[in-house]
Amino acid sequence: MFWTKSFITTLKEIPENAESISHQLMLRSNMVRMLCAGVYSYLPLGYKVLSKIEAIVREEMNKTGALELLLPGLQPLELWQKTGRDEVMGETMFRFVDRRNRKLVLGPTHEEVITDLAANFVKSYRDLPFVLYQIQTKYRDELRPRFGIVRSCEFIMKDAYSFNRDTKGLDEIYEKMRSAYGNIFKRCGLDVISLKADSGVMGGSCSHEFMVLAESGEDIVYKCKICSEVKGAAAVVIETCPHCKEDMEKLTVLEVGHIFKLGEKYTNPLNVRFLDEDGKHNLVQMGCYGIGVSRLISAIIEQNHDKDGIIWPSAVAPYGVAIVPVNIAEKSVWDKALELHDQLQQIGHEVLVDDRDERAGVKFKDADLLGIPLRITVGNKWLKENKLEIRDRRSQKVQEVSAEQLVSTLQEIAHG
Ligand SMILES: [Zn+2]
Repeated sequence: MFWTKSFITTLKEIPENAESISHQLMLRSNMVRMLCAGVYSYLPLGYKVLSKIEAIVREEMNKTGALELLLPGLQPLELWQKTGRDEVMGETMFRFVDRRNRKLVLGPTHEEVITDLAANFVKSYRDLPFVLYQIQTKYRDELRPRFGIVRSCEFIMKDAYSFNRDTKGLDEIYEKMRSAYGNIFKRCGLDVISLKADSGVMGGSCSHEFMVLAESGEDIVYKCKICSEVKGAAAVVIETCPHCKEDMEKLTVLEVGHIFKLGEKYTNPLNVRFLDEDGKHNLVQMGCYGIGVSRLISAIIEQNHDKDGIIWPSAVAPYGVAIVPVNIAEKSVWDKALELHDQLQQIGHEVLVDDRDERAGVKFKDADLLGIPLRITVGNKWLKENKLEIRDRRSQKVQEVSAEQLVSTLQEIAHG
């Protein structure tokens, strides 16, 4: 890819009304653009990152045996009335009437729709267990949209739902999901705190929240400096660790995932029953497992940046390598940049060549802002000594290599 064809523009100044660092950096690198309060477009650079995160989530979900489907955003209000959640959701749920006078909502979540689907599918114990998931847009009429895509009215979630014949089966799937969540966050380059939590509007017997440290977080946790015990804000009466009796540190966190053992909360009102071996009808035990997929972009930036910009973990970087020809008017520099572009792309690297007629300093600053993990400079060293410079965005370490050494050096870096 060439910069001049990439739809990337950068801003030097911090945009107004962008409170959090992740929101500022996403606007400055043209990853997203606000259409109106709480509603964002994902521009090509931002969409590349989003797609990579989705691919990781999808892979880890598929590994657990969960099956992907796609449920509608438009849902009948009647279904929400059956579980009583139309009242629980209140004004957070977008509601309207269509031209046939049907009362509809824009789905803020999908427990009702999936449970209704399961009610029509499950007949006997032979139909169980199964896990279904989707990656889909959710809608919430936020009173106060904030921090860009962190708290927005339209956002993308992965939501999975498990159906089991008993609580033992539910417990097993719940643990499997917990461990899949660990893999997902690790692959996204995130350091995540997991906390047993309040089940809130989802209901059910047990839940875990997954949170990352972030200044734009809206939740507070307390963490022991000695044993790393973590407590939610609601659980802390005394701000000392129950084990070490030491002071606990107050931290701002951003929720990126939440999993719940729902039990019969939805299968009872929507009547999801199976016939067992003895001819008895029993209620299905349900679990649900959410990840804020679009929100993960912000979380990753909150944890991976410095004063110069974003530092993408390789697995989610929009491009793996930035090639900076220092002076595109110099034929041997430009030819080498083109050759590297083709060569690296052929062996699977995603490459962005900065083909703008700009000063080297401007190009270096922009490559840092965009957070591309490796930068290859074709400049004076190339003209004088036939050497290329590879710079690691995170460590800022620079290596000089010959053109012949380049590919093997990139492979060494990729394998740590
Ligand atoms: Zn402690």
